[in-house]
Amino acid sequence: MDYLPIFCQLQQKACLLVGGGEVAERKARLLLDAGARLTVNALQFTPQFHIWAELGQVTLVAGEFSADLLAEKWLAIAATDSVEVNALVYQFANQQRVFCNVVDDPKRASFIMPSIIDRSPIMVAVSSGGKAPVLARLLREKLEAVLPQHLGQLAQLAGSLRQRVKQQFANIGARRRFWEKLFAHDRLAQSLANADSVLADQQVEQLFADRPEEQGEVVLVGAGPGDAGLLTLKGLQQIQQADVVVYDRLVSDEVMALVRRDAERIFVGKRAGYHCVPQEQINQILLAQARRGLRVVRLKGGDPFIFGRGGEELETLAEADIPFSVVPGITAASGCSAYSGIPLTHRDHAQSVRLVTGHAKADGGLDWAQLAAQQQTLVFYMGLTQAAEIQKQLMAYGMAASMPIALVENGTSTRQRVIEGKLEQLGALAAQAASPSLIIVGSVVNLRSKLNWFASGEGSAERSKMA
Ligand code: SAH
Repeated sequence: MDYLPIFCQLQQKACLLVGGGEVAERKARLLLDAGARLTVNALQFTPQFHIWAELGQVTLVAGEFSADLLAEKWLAIAATDSVEVNALVYQFANQQRVFCNVVDDPKRASFIMPSIIDRSPIMVAVSSGGKAPVLARLLREKLEAVLPQHLGQLAQLAGSLRQRVKQQFANIGARRRFWEKLFAHDRLAQSLANADSVLADQQVEQLFADRPEEQGEVVLVGAGPGDAGLLTLKGLQQIQQADVVVYDRLVSDEVMALVRRDAERIFVGKRAGYHCVPQEQINQILLAQARRGLRVVRLKGGDPFIFGRGGEELETLAEADIPFSVVPGITAASGCSAYSGIPLTHRDHAQSVRLVTGHAKADGGLDWAQLAAQQQTLVFYMGLTQAAEIQKQLMAYGMAASMPIALVENGTSTRQRVIEGKLEQLGALAAQAASPSLIIVGSVVNLRSKLNWFASGEGSAERSKMA
């Protein structure tokens, strides 16, 4: 961070502006808007400065700049058309520890002025630290377009309701839900925009009347396989509204970075060498958090209903009458397929695809005869440790030893690695792969040579080595 963005309270604070031209006039306007007590020093002033002076809004000091003008000032802006004078102002301001901005010279300034979007009391400031002012301006225009004009009125209203909300809702979660409802209330926003205070008051009273349920709720959200861009919009909204997020190892750091900052995070996954929190305990954690009246997000890698035990967690909640909902995610098979350039179905290769658990022993036996059948693609989840067994069984049931296979490790992330080979090598190749990895079996794997768009250098090297 090159600069610390801050919002200065300048009401009645003495500030110095050096320069009396049009650029200085724009800076003066901003300082006056912020309520500063402004002294302007220049050789000459535009007519506007004289008008302000007559109205008593600024004090004009005609003549050369001198350092004593900086005495008792909170901040200074140098906006003359002379580089030397500006440099002088900056130099003296620095000596006297007065923050100083030099127009069009961010390098010689102890503060810079951002582009602002003013929806007072909501203020958005955009800066590129002087490196790309045009980009900052474009961003400002975008934000201007996106932020509705009535935002300021809404924030004003919120300010006037704060005390009452605090009194009415003891619980922080309930307060936040009230605010979320208020800020998402389109009709209320319209009433404010129409300056219809009677209707706006009614709508606010209504919001207070239908009190948010005391009971918490649980939202089961699929985080996708890794790349945060694969999170759904609904998933994003949920993790940004959560009080508590219960997550495990498969949820990427990138996705976790999108979670609401002050949400509590509870890790229930397995770390290398350590046991994971038993399923029953996770169920109890969800229950206990929801019973505190909180909005709980249970965040899971991929899709929660595909080898995610999402169903088991929800059953516990259903029995306890805790409201819940589910947001699907992109499952590892879809993510790894897309990011490795291996379509799971193809008219010439596979008319169906099977998502299979590699933990077959624990989860009941697999029908190997069906799995070894032609014209389909097999995707094994949790298959690394069983890879040799998978190889053996598929070959025993007649699948060709030369059937193409791929292992996709850390699929969709920047660390994705794809190892290609033949069925007869599966066990050996799996021994070189790290978790999480997905095993894809089928002739669709051959399409990767044409369709691979996400290859990292490492992946391709690996591929040629293994081929
Ligand atoms: N619910 C998850 C799957 C959980 S089971 C989903 O829908 O994707 C865990 C298995 O998923 C892992 O053993 C691995 O086989 C697979 N997996 C999950 N994320 C993966 C990734 N980014 N790359 C490769 N495989 C992944």
